[in-house]
Amino acid sequence: SDEFLDAFTFISSQPHKGNIAFIEAATGRTLAYIDLWRSVNSVAAGLSELGVRQGDVILLLSPNSIQFPIICLAVMSIGAIITTTNPLNTPGEIHKQAADSNATLAFTIPALIPKLSLTNLPIVLIGSDTEPRSCITTLDRLMRTNPERRPLVRIKQDDTATLLFSSGTTGVSKGVASSHRNVIAMVSVLQKRYSPGERLTFLCTVPMFHIYGLCCFATGLLAAGTTTVVISKFELSEMLQAVETYRVTHLPIVPPILVALGGSEVSQRFNLGSLKNVVCGGAPVSREVTEAFLRRFPGVVLTQGYGMTETAGIGASTETPEEGKRYGSAGLLIPDMEAKIVDPETGESMPPNRRGELWLRGPSVMKGYFSNAEATAGTLNSEGWLRTGDLCYFDEDGFLFVVDRLKELIKYKGYQVAPAELEALLLTHPNVEDAAVVPFPDKEAGQIPVAFVVKKVESHLSNATLLSFVADRVAPYKKIRRVMFVRSIPKTSSGKILRKDLINLAIALSSNSKL
Ligand code: ATP
Ligand code: MG
Repeated sequence: SDEFLDAFTFISSQPHKGNIAFIEAATGRTLAYIDLWRSVNSVAAGLSELGVRQGDVILLLSPNSIQFPIICLAVMSIGAIITTTNPLNTPGEIHKQAADSNATLAFTIPALIPKLSLTNLPIVLIGSDTEPRSCITTLDRLMRTNPERRPLVRIKQDDTATLLFSSGTTGVSKGVASSHRNVIAMVSVLQKRYSPGERLTFLCTVPMFHIYGLCCFATGLLAAGTTTVVISKFELSEMLQAVETYRVTHLPIVPPILVALGGSEVSQRFNLGSLKNVVCGGAPVSREVTEAFLRRFPGVVLTQGYGMTETAGIGASTETPEEGKRYGSAGLLIPDMEAKIVDPETGESMPPNRRGELWLRGPSVMKGYFSNAEATAGTLNSEGWLRTGDLCYFDEDGFLFVVDRLKELIKYKGYQVAPAELEALLLTHPNVEDAAVVPFPDKEAGQIPVAFVVKKVESHLSNATLLSFVADRVAPYKKIRRVMFVRSIPKTSSGKILRKDLINLAIALSSNSKL
């Protein structure tokens, strides 16, 4: 019946005959779908022989690899729960995640074993056939388990499948519990979009531990039967080399990479003629960045998307080339997703073109935050609406525009200033490479907007020039009050500006009276 269905059964019910599922860019090694499904079943059998049971939580700490999706699917297929973690996290952060999620086993690569030192978790080693004494077995050994021995478990669609952590951009990252139903809903969207029969080759540059990478490469695209080229660490020219070598057609990326593609000469050194579609999401993109990209890649369709960990992936996106040119828009809602724009003060629904908080409801909206009833109650209401925390509006045609996060608005006197708008404006200055705007405490105004700016190499740019450049183009309350030049803007691996770090830097600099 409908009640029992797990994500792996749903995904692997598509045969994809002789297709290649994954290619390892560094070695050219390939994995056919048939072998992928067999590996998943073997690892699932091996895990249950190790004593892993339905409902157990398994932690995965690894850079992107072909093994990453195999582990995620094997865990989900026996009704256990996968929790992924950022390899850049500290041993303390990883310990906290392991404890908060009640993980009982971890998978990692040899180089990252020390990061698990505080957790005391039994470790299964990825990528080496001889295990050090600190590990209980290896993935390769699990892969040699007889796949027929995979236990048959009855998994309810409402059972938890994944426990992903939000990026922690606005505070401490939260564990998001998503059900098999949530995962299947997202898989269906990608399956419909990407299985029209022609040969599609994706390049995976986004982190698989994050919802963006996970929903594409460990689940959704596998149901569509596409081929994915995996590079384990992002580097611009390596990415472009892989596009050329493997004749990649589809490239999902985050905004900083879109900026780099539009602005750098390096792309001209490669034959990128196979590229049909660049997908960009995860953080705001300005009109100028979009235009610069489309000028350099006139034949490529740009797909823009909006999503969050709490929606198991995409909430809205553009599809056709025309939609991709609707600058600044994150596109139309995915099928079955409902939305409203709510005035954060009064709770009333707003008409088109008026800004307010975006609320979403649909089959991919999470079950709740894991072991955090208070945060769940503040985010999900009894009617199933999710408060996204994002300030947005819809135009008359139903296109979503994300202005900024409510939490990140700068409160200048009685006004609210959106940093993303000022950042987009700063990026239009020909000598600005990158920019971030943050609030700075001020006795008189409450907060003032200050900018961190990266200059283009060998260009001249003064504080005063930039201050008046902005002042000439915005209402007086939005003016940037101070500028600080830096070498780079700190960002998360999902492409978001780490404003917390910049606010602390601004405060530190000002106490040294450098700002
Ligand atoms: P945390 O919730 O821990 O503070 P986070 O919100 O950054 O971190 P994610 O779930 O990775 O964690 O990111 C979702 C958020 O990313 C959205 O709520 C939104 O603010 C931002 N975002 C995603 N896509 C877009 C987009 N196309 N345009 C603007 N913002 C986007
Ligand atoms: Mg969030």
